[in-house]
Amino acid sequence: MNLKYRKTVIAGNWKMNNNLTATKEFADAIKPKLGRHKWCDVVLCVPYVNIPGAVKAFKDAHLAIGAENCHYEDHGAFTGEVTADMLRDVGARYVILGHSERRQYYNETDFAVNKKIKAALNVGLKTIVCVGESLEQREYGVTEELIAYQVKAALTGLDDSAMRHVIIAYEPIWAIGTGKTATAEQAGEVCAHIRFTVRKMYGARVARALTIQYGGSMNAKNAAELLAQPDIDGGLIGGASLKPDDFAAIIAAANQ
Ligand code: PEP
Repeated sequence: MNLKYRKTVIAGNWKMNNNLTATKEFADAIKPKLGRHKWCDVVLCVPYVNIPGAVKAFKDAHLAIGAENCHYEDHGAFTGEVTADMLRDVGARYVILGHSERRQYYNETDFAVNKKIKAALNVGLKTIVCVGESLEQREYGVTEELIAYQVKAALTGLDDSAMRHVIIAYEPIWAIGTGKTATAEQAGEVCAHIRFTVRKMYGARVARALTIQYGGSMNAKNAAELLAQPDIDGGLIGGASLKPDDFAAIIAAANQ
């Protein structure tokens, strides 16, 4: 973390978990543990249908609600899809885009991710843009090239001012939901490379201000070590964000 230049952001990704009742129970359980966490922003990205309920449940807490995806068009014949404007309208403030599960199971391409980022920024949503390599790609030694490519493709066409609303989450695919965390050094190295890539695209000022999260089995035990890396400015947290005690402990680690 580097609080002098940029915000720390801790974001939960609930994926396809927790109905409305569970959402309310989670809010009741975590709110007393949240404290003021003045050093970092906290976000919870929940399934579409729970966004209004989550916004209501957290209305008196310093925690923003986000979505886990959106479509890139602003209306049209796309059965089952949701626009960025619809998300904003029901109270979402953030949206996760390009998560590896969406790339893998729904064939989401870098091109589509870029269009989604533009659609989300256009209506005032902050975007959490996920990039990350598979185990095979890491073993082939192409992690840095691949991540640089994903970052460039995602950010194509965005100007400096748009970049103020972009967070990049480095999520090695082999560490998501597997219990295998990248070591703090491995994660820190790739996050530094992301900042280097952004510096080449936008210059030092934009790169220095960019929040870069690590995601991949971050938990209450390893959060402090990961967050101590100078280029890791927060976390995108799946499994541990479903447990109020664990999620609160990660937020606490970001506030030390
Ligand atoms: C994620 O889904 O973005 C994630 C990081 O999941 P987990 O923390 O469970 O690995």
